[in-house]
Amino acid sequence: MDPAIRLLRELVAVNSVNPTLVRGAPGEREIADVIAAEMRRGGLDVSIETVTHGRPNVVGVLEGRAAGRTLMFCGHTDTVGVTGMVDPFTPVERDGRLYGRGAQDMKGGVAAMISAATAVAQRGGLEAGRLVVAAVVDEEHSSIGADALVKSWRADAAVVTEPTDLQIAVGHKGFAWVEIAVHGKAAHGSRPADGQDAILRLGRVLARLEALDRALQARPPHPLVGTGSLHASIIEGGHELSSYPDRATLQMERRTLPTEDESAAIHEVRQILDELVSEDATFRGTATAMFSRPAYEIAPDSDLPELLAASFTQAGGEPKVSGASFWTDAAVLGHAGIPSVLFGPGGAGLHSTEEYVIVADVLTCRDTLVELVRRFC
Ligand SMILES: [Zn+2]
Repeated sequence: MDPAIRLLRELVAVNSVNPTLVRGAPGEREIADVIAAEMRRGGLDVSIETVTHGRPNVVGVLEGRAAGRTLMFCGHTDTVGVTGMVDPFTPVERDGRLYGRGAQDMKGGVAAMISAATAVAQRGGLEAGRLVVAAVVDEEHSSIGADALVKSWRADAAVVTEPTDLQIAVGHKGFAWVEIAVHGKAAHGSRPADGQDAILRLGRVLARLEALDRALQARPPHPLVGTGSLHASIIEGGHELSSYPDRATLQMERRTLPTEDESAAIHEVRQILDELVSEDATFRGTATAMFSRPAYEIAPDSDLPELLAASFTQAGGEPKVSGASFWTDAAVLGHAGIPSVLFGPGGAGLHSTEEYVIVADVLTCRDTLVELVRRFC
């Protein structure tokens, strides 16, 4: 069995469900041990760096024999939960696919990047420069692993091996979460003159948000990632049937473009609330920015996409440059000054009950990365 696939099977067999997403889940400690052992056997210098209790990043380094540039490979070791899956941690290979939780998102990419590094080490080592291989925690929640990584590690470029169907994704969207609270006045249900209905008033906000979403999606699309959008995510309000509700809240998500600031969402919502007040002075609503992450697009002067494309061609592929809709750690690396792209194997079912990665893609990804090391470092 190819060492990349052997490693992939070992990684899928370890439960590394993110403990912030799923209470009581084991997190990344055990998978970090498996990865550290694999990197050490492969000839890398390994450090295990605790990000928070029981949740370590693993970083392996291969030093070149001459001066050169530093290339980083980065992948996350956590997965989302396994509700509804029959046997999530038993890797099953069928019809050229390997099934299991995290197979595509993103243990396939992690196996490919580690296998690439150990292949370089075992085929005579690195001629020049430096290769840094980082397996980080918590991408599926708030990326505390990537945040910690960029505080102590630098590189001239990075490949994040998230699943892209072997496309070279040079940018992706960002996101912002906003909470909107609309205030009313509690009153007995029979006394409309005394009450202000917070839920119906939140309806005014919802109507504006729907119009804003239509407008966002009607704008000229960004060439890589399309248009921005928003959706209402969680709504709450009211206490009992016979009373006017005094408060209603909405938590919403706005997906942003590389050309937009991550504060776009909160500004848009505050403008909507201001308009509603100017139409009805009794309207009271507040907006709070909960959390956001910026979109990302690699600078046009980076030679990484071109070198990766040439490496992929060398490995037998036909390169395609694209953008990704989902947010990734590439934005953390990129905004910390490490030009980054996404490049990883194909498959399907990420975050769903039947997830698989295409086995041949894992090998092609690995072979491409080996070639990229030679061209870039
Ligand atoms: Zn992922």
